[in-house]
Amino acid sequence: MIVDGKCLCGQIQFEADIDPQSATICHCTDCQINSGTAFGYVVGAVNNSFNLLKGELSFYIKTADSGAKRELAFCGKCGTRIYAKPENGKSGFFGLRVGTIRQRRSLHPKRQAWKKSCLDWVEFIKTDQIFETQPK
Ligand SMILES: [Zn+2]
Ligand SMILES: [Zn+2]
Repeated sequence: MIVDGKCLCGQIQFEADIDPQSATICHCTDCQINSGTAFGYVVGAVNNSFNLLKGELSFYIKTADSGAKRELAFCGKCGTRIYAKPENGKSGFFGLRVGTIRQRRSLHPKRQAWKKSCLDWVEFIKTDQIFETQPK
């Protein structure tokens, strides 16, 4: 599914080919802090199809609980989170932040990751798959 999106200030604009079946709510504590809210919500871009149409991304490299380093891309002007992917072109999940996608209304969550750190009032999300913790 081809989608397009932008950051809050409009400096960043992008398009990507996504797999709607990969729409994932992430309850990890990094997503809680980095999003400034209860959870992250991402969808996988197929074959790194993310295409920056306009603007310049800023980056922060974080280390996941698994030890893997993830490149977090965001707008340096307004702070909107755009995506997270493995650093240095390594293969792995390319998570595009669903809230930035214009077609977000049609993207329903399919799975929840790291439910163990889910805030206890978050009860309204129904998905087929739930993962309690990250495999060690
Ligand atoms: Zn912006
Ligand atoms: Zn997360």
